[in-house]
Amino acid sequence: MTGCTRCGICCTEMMIRVPFPTHATAEEHLRARADAERFYRIHGFDVLPSMAGEIALRIPAVCKHLAINGSDTTCNIYETRPEVCRKFECSKCRSE
Ligand code: SF4
Ligand code: SF4
Repeated sequence: MTGCTRCGICCTEMMIRVPFPTHATAEEHLRARADAERFYRIHGFDVLPSMAGEIALRIPAVCKHLAINGSDTTCNIYETRPEVCRKFECSKCRSE
């Protein structure tokens, strides 16, 4: 496991989970889910693997406080960054 490499990726995208209800039949559910996923993809979202009952989406969203210096990045409001940023657990940091 390694620490943060300051690649900045976590500050350039967001992940959201959209509720997706169960349909009356498995066939109807799969068809509706495929249609919903297509809808999100044609709007520029990446559809991620997710739990039943939701659709997980990744959205490109560069934070306006991200300072990029070549391959190095820093947060311009590090001391006052949002709680969400403070609590973020990076899978890259955990897995490397
Ligand atoms: S927390 Fe992870 S994704 Fe974010 S800058 Fe560090 S290594 Fe990159
Ligand atoms: S506020 Fe700072 S830590 Fe949070 S997303 Fe923006 S640049 Fe990254």
